Amino acid sequence: MIYYSTNNKENTASLEQAVVTGLASDRGLYMPEKLKALPKEFFDNIQNLSFQEIAFEVAKAFFGEDVPAEDLKKIVYDTLAFETPVVKVEDNIYSLELFHGPTLAFKDVGGRFMARLLGYFNAKEGNDRLVNVLVATSGDTGSAVANGFLGVPGIHVYVLYPKGKVSPIQECQFTTLGQNITAIEVDGVFDDCQALVKAAFMDKELNAHMKLTSANSINVARFLPQSFYYFNAYAQMKAKGLADDLVVCVPSGNFGNITSGIFGMKMGLPIKRFIAANNSNDIFYNYLQTGKYSPKASVQTIANAMDVGDPSNFARIYDLYKGSRDAVAADVSGARFSDDQIRETIKDVFTRTGYLCDPHGACGYRALKEGLKPGETGVFLETAHPAKFKDTVEKVIGQQVEIPAKLAAFMKGKKQSVALSKNFEDFKKFLIER
Ligand SMILES: *Cc1c(COP(=O)(O)O)cnc(C)c1O
Repeated sequence: MIYYSTNNKENTASLEQAVVTGLASDRGLYMPEKLKALPKEFFDNIQNLSFQEIAFEVAKAFFGEDVPAEDLKKIVYDTLAFETPVVKVEDNIYSLELFHGPTLAFKDVGGRFMARLLGYFNAKEGNDRLVNVLVATSGDTGSAVANGFLGVPGIHVYVLYPKGKVSPIQECQFTTLGQNITAIEVDGVFDDCQALVKAAFMDKELNAHMKLTSANSINVARFLPQSFYYFNAYAQMKAKGLADDLVVCVPSGNFGNITSGIFGMKMGLPIKRFIAANNSNDIFYNYLQTGKYSPKASVQTIANAMDVGDPSNFARIYDLYKGSRDAVAADVSGARFSDDQIRETIKDVFTRTGYLCDPHGACGYRALKEGLKPGETGVFLETAHPAKFKDTVEKVIGQQVEIPAKLAAFMKGKKQSVALSKNFEDFKKFLIER
C-alpha cells in the first residue's frame, strides 16, 4: 500500500518508510492511499469472532499488501493479548473499556503493534544497526510505548519526560523497566521534551550517527491499529442485539483514536455517527461551529491526556473529508466539558449506577447523555483506568479507589532515570556517547 502526505499527494512512501520516518518530509501526516471496504459476510458474522480474529481481518485490509499473512497474524495476536469488554452503564449507554492492557490505557494497543511491526521490518532487513525510538511524554504515551517496546530486539527507546510534572503512578510505568528502555528526566516542561525530540530528528550529525524514529500518534503503525476497537465494539453490541443506530463517542486530544474509528466507518463498519468529546481544549468543537480551525495554546485540565491545543490528526480528518466542514459535521459532532462538569459527571454516574469513570471517559459518557437521540444506542470509549487518576477521582467520590495489581507491580519497581537539562547539546552529547 502506498502512503501519501497530507501536505502533498505526490509525496509518497511505502509502509516501511512511513513507519520508520513517522512524519513525511514535508511535515505532513501519512495517509493510506485507499481504505478497503470489508466484505458483507465479515460484518454478518462479526459477533461470532474473537477480538484477535476481527483485528486480523482489519489489519489485512491495511497491512496485507506489505506484511505476509503469517507474520501479520503473529503481530496482531501478540498485540491483543487482552480483552476490551463493553460494559453496560445504564439503559442505552455502554462503556468500551480500553484499559485492560499492560499500562491500563488505550494507547497500549498502538504501542504494542508499532513495536512488533518495527521489530518485523528490522529483522527482515537483517541489519544489526540499532533503531532508536525517541518519545516525549506528559504521562500516558511514554508508558504505553515503553511497555510495548520492552524487550523487542534491535530497538532502544528513550522516553523524555518533564521532571516533577507526571504523576508518580505514571512515572513508575516507564522508569522502572530497564532493559532497552531509558527514561530521561528533563529539567523543564513537556514542551521542552517535545522540542528536544524534534531537534534530534533535525540534527544531521546525530542522524548520521544513529538511526532515529518517533513513536507518537502521527506514526501510522500506532494510529491505524486503534481502528480495531471500533470493530470489536460493534461486534459486542451486535451480540447484544443493540448494534442498530450505534453512536460512538470518543474522548479526544490529538484525534488519533477517533480518526481511526472514522476510517473503520469508511471501510463499511455500520456506525451511525461519532461524537468527539473534548475538555476545555475545544479547538475541534469550535471548528464544527465556525468552519475555522484555530489552534490555541493548550490549557491544563483534570483530563490531561486531552490537553492538546493543535490536534495533530486533524490533518487526517481534513484530508479525508477534502476540507469540507459540512462533510465532517455529517459524521461527527462535538462536545466540550469544563473540569467542574467532568467532576460532576464522575460523581453523578458513580452515585446513580455504581460505574466509575476516569476523567476522560466521563467526557465521553456526558456527551452521549446529552447528545443521544431517541432510538440511538451509545458506546463511549473509556480510555484509561480510573486508578490512573486516583487523586482526582477519590476527591470527587469521597472514597478510595483500589489500585489494580498490574499498576501496583510497577510501583514496587526501582526508579532508574537519567537527569538532563533542557539544553539540546546535552541531550545530543548523551545520545552520542552511549
Ligand atoms: C491519549 C489519550 C486520549 C486522547 O486520545 P487521542 O488519540 O490523542 O485523541 C484520551 N484519553 C486518554 C486516557 C489518553 O491517554
